[in-house]
Amino acid sequence: MKKPVRVLIVGAGIGGLTAALALQKRGYDVCVCEQAAELREVGAGLQLSPNGLRALYRLGLGEALRSFASEPAGKNIRLWSSGQTWKLFDLGATSVQQYGYPYFTIHRAMLHNLLADAVRATKRDALMLGAQCIGFEQTDDDVVLRLLDGREFRGDVLIGADGVHSGIRSQLFGADQPKFSGCLAWRGVIAIEHLPQHLRCTVGTNWVGPGAHVIHYPLNGGRHMNFVGIVERDDWQIESWTQKGSHEECHADFKGWHQDVHDLIRNIEVPYKWALMARDPMQQWSRNRVTLLGDACHPTLPFLAQGAVMAVEDGYILARCIERYEDDLALALKKYEAARIERTTSIVLRSSENGRRFHNSALGSADGAAAYVDREWAETKVRERYDWLFRYNVDEAPI
Ligand SMILES: Cc1cc2nc3c(=O)[nH]c(=O)nc-3n(C[C@H](O)[C@H](O)[C@H](O)COP(=O)(O)OP(=O)(O)OC[C@H]3O[C@@H](n4cnc5c(N)ncnc54)[C@H](O)[C@@H]3O)c2cc1C
Repeated sequence: MKKPVRVLIVGAGIGGLTAALALQKRGYDVCVCEQAAELREVGAGLQLSPNGLRALYRLGLGEALRSFASEPAGKNIRLWSSGQTWKLFDLGATSVQQYGYPYFTIHRAMLHNLLADAVRATKRDALMLGAQCIGFEQTDDDVVLRLLDGREFRGDVLIGADGVHSGIRSQLFGADQPKFSGCLAWRGVIAIEHLPQHLRCTVGTNWVGPGAHVIHYPLNGGRHMNFVGIVERDDWQIESWTQKGSHEECHADFKGWHQDVHDLIRNIEVPYKWALMARDPMQQWSRNRVTLLGDACHPTLPFLAQGAVMAVEDGYILARCIERYEDDLALALKKYEAARIERTTSIVLRSSENGRRFHNSALGSADGAAAYVDREWAETKVRERYDWLFRYNVDEAPI
């Protein structure tokens, strides 16, 4: 009888858990090692575009997600100085009509808990906490994962879903070379009742201005607003979800911006700040029985809101490849990498490009700013930028 395939995953973030669930759905035995002693997803909101939601719906999480998420009616662009507003695109029913799935905004913790519960529902001890991986050894026949506490786990395949500072990536390919992007991200959540009525909107909004931009969108069924403010600054280089900043410092970063932006900042519960590091796309992710997934192999600047969504797509496609090429697992990992690398590389590159668009110096001039928005966010250009992202079909992508 054939030995059942056992998959080891390092990291229980959104990518690792999606991969675990997608593999369980195809009948595989999965062991996820997470260094954190308890599952506590930090950060704030997340945008889930229809390409990622297609995978999450197919994994059976759609209705549960809908009960926690907000569904923005669309997205707007606003100008930093005058507050002038343009429609970027419609979402809601339009997203379902055009792409087959909705567009949700959700608190990261909600998505994370749903994924973790689903993995544990299939196998209670599939997820091990307080399990910090310190390295692995692979042979032609298997992989052994080593933990800090001395435990070892043996499997047929190892997936490094251990995030932007991935130790599995370092062991495979050496230390990475992060470059500070010159941008700092402010993040926080606002209780909706603290905002003036006109800001309690059900659309996502993207403010653009010279050297900075702001994104806000509803969360938790409209009870909260998620705030992300990105500003060009070179004096903060700590890449962490948990570093707190002050309201004063955040206001100062958006000095001269429209009053609405300051009303948002004033009402953030706790402002967190995160230095955005940039990394060149990798040429290769896999070696024999070990591969990478999510931020471990394609960390990206968040200017297309696709980081978590790419990790979800990765997990789903990886499970398809393991099932299809189960008799040759090294080939399965190569097929997975080949199926994903071009798309994720484009997203990484186009995210950086979007940053330059959002922060363009043309937005600083009173005369030129509105013309720049008209030109850069013209309907055809917007379609070209987002359509290929949202149309991706995890079930039909060739593997
Ligand atoms: C400001 C900002 C806004 C964003 N907005 C969006 C958005 O709107 N939409 C979107 O799709 N994406 C967004 N992203 C990106 C998204 O958050 C990430 O791409 C995504 O969380 C990556 O998931 P992951 O599972 O690959 O890694 P992570 O979530 O980082 O998970 C890695 C896990 O591995 C664990 N781990 C690490 N090392 C070890 C070890 N040695 N042993 C065991 N466990 C280990 C960690 O504890 C962690 O739980 C945003 C990012 C930023 C910075």
